[in-house]
Amino acid sequence: MYFKDIPGKTPEKQQLLQQVKQNKIAHAQLFVGKEGFGALALALAFSRYVLCENKQEDDACGTCDSCKKYDHYAKPDVHFVYPMIKYKNLKREDTKSTNAIVDWKEAILHNPFLSLTDWVEKLEGEGSTPNINVRECNDIIHQLSLMSFDGGYKILILWLPEYLGKDGNRLLKLIEEPPDQTLIIFVSHDMDAILTTIISRCQVLRVTPFDRDEIANYIYQKYKSTNQRSQEIANMADGNLHFAIQVCNQETKDFSDMLISWMRLAYTGNPVTIQEWYAGFEPLSKNEKTAFIEYGLHFLRQFILFQYAGQEVVRITDHEKETIQRMQKVIDIPKATAMISVFERQIMAIPRNANLKIMFLTDTLTLGDIMNGKESVSLPTYYP
Ligand SMILES: [Zn+2]
Repeated sequence: MYFKDIPGKTPEKQQLLQQVKQNKIAHAQLFVGKEGFGALALALAFSRYVLCENKQEDDACGTCDSCKKYDHYAKPDVHFVYPMIKYKNLKREDTKSTNAIVDWKEAILHNPFLSLTDWVEKLEGEGSTPNINVRECNDIIHQLSLMSFDGGYKILILWLPEYLGKDGNRLLKLIEEPPDQTLIIFVSHDMDAILTTIISRCQVLRVTPFDRDEIANYIYQKYKSTNQRSQEIANMADGNLHFAIQVCNQETKDFSDMLISWMRLAYTGNPVTIQEWYAGFEPLSKNEKTAFIEYGLHFLRQFILFQYAGQEVVRITDHEKETIQRMQKVIDIPKATAMISVFERQIMAIPRNANLKIMFLTDTLTLGDIMNGKESVSLPTYYP
């Protein structure tokens, strides 16, 4: 992964390049951007650049010994830590990132914009909640205390510190007083879920969403889709490149009809037909379920924009426009906003191995309550 492989993000790239050029690399950094915004990809490109032996003006050289090793993430001085689940026949409390390093390298080589759901699916583990455990924290402290192999920087890329839990406090001393030539990069999708003690010790880089043209160009070139289709996908993606890639890989179906029928069922609130709907929905993979909810979020955001600003500014197909016009009879902006908060919680809960059946059945009734204007709808509290 090079900076040039990441579309746009000029301010973020400039900030990182300047750190190196001015020899002011902050030793603890936190890159924050929602899923699909490219925070991990930036961390990968940045660490390659830091280690490159023949740095170019705005990217790594690609030909030096370090870059060649980095092509396969085979640099022994770069350590990766990420949430783990029950893995193969290991005891959960003994499982560390290094146990799954081969899977991890495959995953980030395949798609550096990956989501936690992708990762959990890759590990083929069900029924345990992803986290970064205490053993891992102790291991990080040990690894970074060792001499570097190549005599330069030792780099830790810790993906999703929101899964550290309180054990993350063990890392505070390391973050505060790291050994010489150590760079720790936390890559987060959700700053609100990180220990504040960690945030306060890091230099923060906020990673912005990709803009529509960046996503459209990326998938037009990489997936050879037509210009119009690239635009449509970019419209749906709302800045999330991971989602756009999924649609291009056809891991994602056309969700518009499915969303409409779900909303209709929620509105009528008949438990029997809701169960029947779920029976058809259940076989979808977690990734597909997430993509479906992402689509729902896109739809509701465009619905709100449509009410505020009219049809000239919304990014929707003709079919979606008809649906929005029909739905205006049932929902308004406050209701759409309440529905968005239900969907956002679902996005967070799906990779955490929530009981999806209970979640979707209960949420369907909640969405029905919202649409029917029931007073004081409270969100269910079964989320992990
Ligand atoms: Zn190089």
